[in-house]
Amino acid sequence: MFEAIRKWKRERVLKSAAIPDALWNEALASLPFLSIYGQEDVARLRDMVVLFLDAKTIVGAQEHEVTPLQRVIIAIQACVLVLNLDLAWYDGWESVVVYPGEFIPSWEWEDEAGVVHRHNEAMAGEAMLRGPVVLSWPDVEASANWEEAGMNLVIHEFAHKLDMASGDANGCPPLPSDMSLKEWRATMTEAYDDFCARVDRDEETAIDPYASETPGEFFAVLSEVFFAEPALLQDEYPAVYELFVRFYRQDPGAAATNS
Ligand SMILES: [Zn+2]
Repeated sequence: MFEAIRKWKRERVLKSAAIPDALWNEALASLPFLSIYGQEDVARLRDMVVLFLDAKTIVGAQEHEVTPLQRVIIAIQACVLVLNLDLAWYDGWESVVVYPGEFIPSWEWEDEAGVVHRHNEAMAGEAMLRGPVVLSWPDVEASANWEEAGMNLVIHEFAHKLDMASGDANGCPPLPSDMSLKEWRATMTEAYDDFCARVDRDEETAIDPYASETPGEFFAVLSEVFFAEPALLQDEYPAVYELFVRFYRQDPGAAATNS
């Protein structure tokens, strides 16, 4: 019964909120790392993007006007992560907030002495637990060119969202039943410790040293690399790459060599 209603609703949204071809093609063309996906995957991605945009609101902050193209560009990259999982991974929160540039988050926290602190460093993006994903548009735009930017902001923040589905951004998202938590932790910890040691030695790393901040950042940064430059992750941390293939149920590296 519920399944039938869900299916009916899905079909209705896909029809009523369809993305015009020209807009879809323009958005896709601006994200070259997606060229590894075949027709069938791209069609599934497009359906998912329509459903994502129906479920979430994407709003501008500080007078930033979110254009239809920007909406689709953000949604495509959010959906790539869950293309072979389920959109339900993004349940439990509602909006994406887009700033015209880096922003200073509004949250405050109280230390043990009861002193209230404000975060006063500008950020390019933020994923809030059970709250919105916040993005700086220029950084989303720059991310389209991995060669130059070496980052993908949308993938980064949405990887945090997957991670937070376990209750906290600790580098360990909820795993499917065919994956072992023990193996996940062992593989990720070994790679993380190695990476942190390299950063501590001031070694120049092809992976953004920001990944050494916390296990949560390590997962988010390595997820960016997995999708945007899979060969780099295969080279640097092959065991993590294999783990991600099983978690995301995708093999972008194999797809890249075949295309
Ligand atoms: Zn992060």
